[in-house]
Amino acid sequence: MLIVMHRKASSKQVNAIIAAVAQMGLTAQPIPGSERTAIGVLGNKGYVDDANIRYLPGVKEVIHVTKPYKVVSWDFHPRPTIIKVGSIEIGEGKKPVVIAGPCAVESEEQIIRTALHVKKMGANLLRGGAFKPRTGPHTFQGLKKEGLKLLALAKEMSGLPIVTEIISQQNVNLVEQYADILQVGARNMQNFELLKELGHIRKPVILKRGMSATIEEFLAAAEYIYSEGNHAVILCERGIRTFETTTRNSLDLSVVPIIKELSHLPIIVDPSHATGKRTLVPPMAKAALVAGAHGIMVEVHPEPDKALSDGAQSLTFGEFEKMMGEIGRILTFLGY
Ligand code: PEP
Ligand code: MN
Repeated sequence: MLIVMHRKASSKQVNAIIAAVAQMGLTAQPIPGSERTAIGVLGNKGYVDDANIRYLPGVKEVIHVTKPYKVVSWDFHPRPTIIKVGSIEIGEGKKPVVIAGPCAVESEEQIIRTALHVKKMGANLLRGGAFKPRTGPHTFQGLKKEGLKLLALAKEMSGLPIVTEIISQQNVNLVEQYADILQVGARNMQNFELLKELGHIRKPVILKRGMSATIEEFLAAAEYIYSEGNHAVILCERGIRTFETTTRNSLDLSVVPIIKELSHLPIIVDPSHATGKRTLVPPMAKAALVAGAHGIMVEVHPEPDKALSDGAQSLTFGEFEKMMGEIGRILTFLGY
C-alpha cells in the first residue's frame, strides 16, 4: 500500500500516519519526492484495510499495490539505484560497464591470461564460474573452491573485481569471501531460499532472468533479495526460451526500457547466453547498449574451441578486442 500525502501536508501529519501504520503492526517507509511525500507500507502479506488511514489529515489518496513487487519499483524508491564496486558505479547515468571472462574458471593459465587481456581492452569486471549449474551432471561442474582461489589470483594480477556465480545456499559464505559481485544464474532465479539468504549479505548481486520468467516474475525475484535488506541488486537479461532454435535463447531486448520504466534497479544484458553463437555476440552487445543497458556481460576464452563449457558463444581475444573498439565508439556517440 502506498499512502500519498497532500503537497502541503505537514511533517506532523506525516508522523501521525507513520504512527498509525505502526499501530497496525506494519512498517511505514516515507518516500520524499519533489512534489509531495508518499509513505510506503511494508510488512503486509495481503490486502491492508485502509479505513484507519484514508481519512487522516494530510492524506490525498491510498493506492493498493497489486503487483508482486513493491520495493524494487519507482513507487517506493523514486531515485535510480547506483551500485558501487570500488570505484566502479553501475546504474542510470553512469558509463555502462563491461563484465568479461570465461564461462568457467578452468586453470590458472586460462583465467590469468583472460583477465589480463580483458583488462587491457577496457573491461571493468572479470567474470568466471567456479560453481557451474550445468544442464546435465556428466559435464564439467567447475573447480569450486580452487576456482575461487584462481579468481582471487586473477583479481590480484589484473586489478579487476570478480563476478562469480552462487548456486547454493550452503556456499554463500565461501563465495562471498571471494566475489565482489555474486551472480544468481537463470536456473536459480526462483530459488527463493537462496535469494532470501543473499538478502542478508553485504555484496551486490547480479540476478539473471529465468529462461521462461516473465518480467513480473523477474522483478518479484529481485524483490526477495531487496526486501531482506540487500539493496544492491543488478538485473540481467540473458535471453528467454521461445520456439526459435537457431539461437540458444531469444534475446528480449525490450526488457531494458521496460525495466527502466518499472524499476529503479540497474539492468545489464548478457548477449553470450542469449544467442549461444559468438558471431551474434558483438552486434547484440552493441544493441543492448544503444537500448540503454547499464552494462553487458560477455564470455571470452583464450581458446574457445577447447573450452570446457560454452565455447561456441565465447569470443576469442581478437574478437573481444574488435568488439571493445566498436563499443568505445558507441559509448562516445551515447555521450559517455
Ligand atoms: C553463466 O553466466 O555462466 C550462466 C550459467 O548463465 P545463465 O544462468 O544465464 O544460463
Ligand atoms: Mn556460460
